[in-house]
Amino acid sequence: MLQLNRPLRLTLAVLAILAGMLLVGGLAQRQAEQRALQAASAQSEEQLGLYAGALRTLIDRYRSLPAVLALDPDLRVALRGPVAGELQQRLNLKLERINGAAGSSTLELLDRDGLAVAASNWRTPTSYVGHNFGFRPYFLETRGKGTGRFYAVGVVTGTPGYFLSSAVLDDDGNFLGAIVVRLELTELEREWSAGPDLLLISDAKDIAFLANRPGWRYRELRALTAAERAELTSTRQYDKQPLQALEHRTLESLGAHSRMERVSGPEGQRDYLWQSLPLPSEGWTLHLLRQPREAIQAGRGVALGAAGAWLALVFLGLFLHQRWRLARLRQRSREELERLVEERTAALRTAQEGLVQAAKLAALGQMSAALAHEINQPLTAQRMQLATLRLLLEQGQEEQAAGVLQRLDEQLERMAALTGHLKTFARKSPGGLRERLDLAQVVDRALQLLEARLRNEAVELHLDLARPAWVRGDAIRLEQVLVNLLRNALDAMADKPRRQLRVNIRPQRGHWLLEVIDSGGGIAAEHLASVFDPFFTTKPVGEGLGLGLAVSYGIVMETGGSLEAGNRDGGACFSLRLPADLGEERE
Ligand code: ADP
Repeated sequence: MLQLNRPLRLTLAVLAILAGMLLVGGLAQRQAEQRALQAASAQSEEQLGLYAGALRTLIDRYRSLPAVLALDPDLRVALRGPVAGELQQRLNLKLERINGAAGSSTLELLDRDGLAVAASNWRTPTSYVGHNFGFRPYFLETRGKGTGRFYAVGVVTGTPGYFLSSAVLDDDGNFLGAIVVRLELTELEREWSAGPDLLLISDAKDIAFLANRPGWRYRELRALTAAERAELTSTRQYDKQPLQALEHRTLESLGAHSRMERVSGPEGQRDYLWQSLPLPSEGWTLHLLRQPREAIQAGRGVALGAAGAWLALVFLGLFLHQRWRLARLRQRSREELERLVEERTAALRTAQEGLVQAAKLAALGQMSAALAHEINQPLTAQRMQLATLRLLLEQGQEEQAAGVLQRLDEQLERMAALTGHLKTFARKSPGGLRERLDLAQVVDRALQLLEARLRNEAVELHLDLARPAWVRGDAIRLEQVLVNLLRNALDAMADKPRRQLRVNIRPQRGHWLLEVIDSGGGIAAEHLASVFDPFFTTKPVGEGLGLGLAVSYGIVMETGGSLEAGNRDGGACFSLRLPADLGEERE
């Protein structure tokens, strides 16, 4: 696997998160924008429908006017001959009156050549009367088909209008002329300009001739062909109005009549949602241009939301990952700890077993040494006494021989006592033996075992033993306790100039209190609490095992007593308390 250092990995991770954020945000924005645009497009289409409806209503209202007027007998009669003088005046007045009632812009009557013979605006300076409109497409259409319609800028008035015309026919159906109503859509333009949307109406040549905002009128929405230009010139549709191209390009098509367009309009370059609606009856197209601010805002909002959600997700992921790692780490360290504890416990157990074994061996060694020492001495003495005895008997000195025999006897007795003692030691002592015994005698036997040491080390022994001090327990085990206490005392005094050992037994509240007091300097204060701990020793390696007091403590507790360590008069003082056994004293 590729090894990367930490800062680089961190940077890459941050970059990945940012890239993810941009990607997610971008996709969400695009999605949201698309949806919002589709919605806006549908809305525009609906809006366009409404505008188209209003326009159609307006036109329809006037469409019937020329058709009805064409049937007027006055007009039909008048058009049969030349119109002038009083007749013309009458017609002018009539048209003026009808125009006022209908609310149209102008009404005019054209003869069969397109000459205006009467008009509602006959009083104004821009009166149509006397002008020929034979070149206008609506006139040509009317002559050919019976009706005509045309949006154009007035040649006379210079204002744009929608011309609707109907043919006036004689009884045989011959064309006599045309009656034309002109509508100005400026009212509609004004009405529409109040809205927020940009509205355009374009003709069949895609020239926007009507707009609800200044600067958008007379714009070519596409490039015109030469034929179209020639036609414009001949019909003088927009007359002297200059036409300007409207630059725009499609960014995105959203449907047959809906697209996003970038337009360089009079208000500068802008992006519009451009919706169109063809009006087949007029040959026009209605356009609605709307800036999709909402869509962009919705997109941005959603993008922000999505990016936020993405970040939240990433952080949640990181958080969960971290937790998982932490849990795994904890689990691992727990397992490691458990394994360590097990290992240590096993090691300790092995060590302890080894130590116990060593203690046993040491005890055996000590015992052998003591035995060799204790037995060697009387044996040597006996050998010498036997030689003396033989000599005395040869010389016939029987009296003196009896004295030697007496001493031999004493020594044998002492050896017997020793071996007897050893026998009790050798006897495997069952734990809870509770025989009645005299504590003073236990002290005697322990001292006996250590006699050689006491003598060799010139220990001053002070005994103050209440006798008998009856207790219940295991004699051998209690002896072991006493031997341990005494041996510790001797060890403590070994390098002291004066060795004083005091052993007391006295009654105390239903107990026997046995004290072993030495002059060995005592136990250091910081060691007092630990002397009974197994393996606690201050002695050099090989000499002390730290088991003596621990074993002793265990034995005393088992016997129902207590063992305490303390200091007194420059030495240690061990106090052993055992419940007094009163049973047999009463007998
Ligand atoms: P060991 O004798 O093998 O060290 P013990 O359990 O018998 O083990 O004794 C533990 C320790 O208690 C000794 O190492 C010693 O420091 C201290 N101690 C015991 N008895 C005495 C005493 N009479 N005077 C001073 N210190 C003692």
